[in-house]
Amino acid sequence: MKPIAIFGTGHGFNTPGKRSDGFMENGKVVLKENSVNEAVGNKLSFLYWFNKVDSYFITNEWHDVPLYERVKRERRIAKELKRLGQKSVFLSIHADAFHVKNAATGGRFFYKSEGGRKIAEHLTYYLENNGYDLNLRRPKQANFKMLRDTSSPAVLFEMGFMTTKSDLEKLVSDEFRNKTALLLFEGLQKLDL
Ligand SMILES: [Zn+2]
Repeated sequence: MKPIAIFGTGHGFNTPGKRSDGFMENGKVVLKENSVNEAVGNKLSFLYWFNKVDSYFITNEWHDVPLYERVKRERRIAKELKRLGQKSVFLSIHADAFHVKNAATGGRFFYKSEGGRKIAEHLTYYLENNGYDLNLRRPKQANFKMLRDTSSPAVLFEMGFMTTKSDLEKLVSDEFRNKTALLLFEGLQKLDL
């Protein structure tokens, strides 16, 4: 059965997320993680709408949606879908940061449950084989709240490192963001649970 996607972006603009102070020679540019996450989330949301495929974007507001509220929304939607005999998956979109500049690169899918692991492997494989513009590290288990407390099989995607110049150049580019949203859309559409 093809699951219905529930997705959200990590951190509101005013809630703590990771940051990059950029690579400008004069002056400091601070890039908040949310601006990268939200751009890709909005594009993904557009693709579902444009292709007339049901989905739920749970952080679709201008104000910050707290973590506990995001969990609550996901659980409510997943429960309702289950009642209707539907399966669901959950995706949380993030961008990573490392305390040493230019020392870490590439994206990675995290999961907690066995169901999440299968989705993480599927999406890693799909993105790698369809031109994702950064390297992808192997999926890894993690105990993040959005993986632990949500009720759909869940993955958290760190798209790349905002603290590494070559990754950051991609993360701020509209072309990369469009491609990433498209690959996530296609990859999720090909899931069969
Ligand atoms: Zn994050």
